[in-house]
Amino acid sequence: MALDRAPAQRADPQWLARLLRERGTRAVAASAEGVLLDEDPSPALPRVGLPDPEAGESDPILLGLEDGRALFALDLDAVQSPVRASLLSGRRIAALREAGAVLSQGEGGLAAYLMALLNWHRRHPHCSVCGAATAIAEGGYSRRCPACGATHFPRTDPAVIVAVGDGDRVLLGRHAGWPAAQYSILAGFVSPGESLEEAVAREVLEEAGIEVRDPVFVTSQPWPFPSSLMLGFKADSDGSEPTARDGELEDVRWFTRDEVGSALAGDTTDLRLPPSVSISRLLVELWWNKDL
Ligand SMILES: [Zn+2]
Repeated sequence: MALDRAPAQRADPQWLARLLRERGTRAVAASAEGVLLDEDPSPALPRVGLPDPEAGESDPILLGLEDGRALFALDLDAVQSPVRASLLSGRRIAALREAGAVLSQGEGGLAAYLMALLNWHRRHPHCSVCGAATAIAEGGYSRRCPACGATHFPRTDPAVIVAVGDGDRVLLGRHAGWPAAQYSILAGFVSPGESLEEAVAREVLEEAGIEVRDPVFVTSQPWPFPSSLMLGFKADSDGSEPTARDGELEDVRWFTRDEVGSALAGDTTDLRLPPSVSISRLLVELWWNKDL
């Protein structure tokens, strides 16, 4: 994402107030249902003017600086209906999954960031320590409680996802209810008190009955459904036969490099892999290329 999040400056209320008055300041907008989407000439998040900068909106959410100009988050559920109607004119609201499928990678990342921040503020108006109403701080990166002084931050839930290999085979599983022939590498949330490596080993053992060795971190991806961080690993195994054990997976088995290659090329209907925007797809591609 080509956005300077301005971590140092955003704590300065006077700097934020000045940005709100600047001519070049823009916003991207979303409601609880999804992001405001422009489809002409190509899918993008429209940069709109802030509805009423002179009204002195007291708790703006700054996404960052884009080409030196401030970019704020605008909550369509909080603006007056004529403003909302004019913003929606010739545009529509698209759910994040739908928007993510048509937007470029950069715009998709911005959409996820926008929704994650707006949803967190929407769901956390009160202090979880004392129950008092909290206020936005740091340009939207935290909320502060005026009664007890507690500071609250948006939470991110870590999840691991792992390409388990056995020489020329990779372990893929499918959930009941997925489209026919759809498979993915295994994933799951990290439990309290667990290291990432332990989470990898536990998930694979629980879901497939396979013992892994040497999990190694590869890459990560924010995953906004609802607010996870996917931590991508590779691991080796002894190649024993997997079995779906905990009821989570409908099927889990080894696929050969040839089978995966056909699926990546779109040459088969026997195996469908996750979409190209996902870390799951990336890890499978890296494994297939022998880049893991
Ligand atoms: Zn409090």
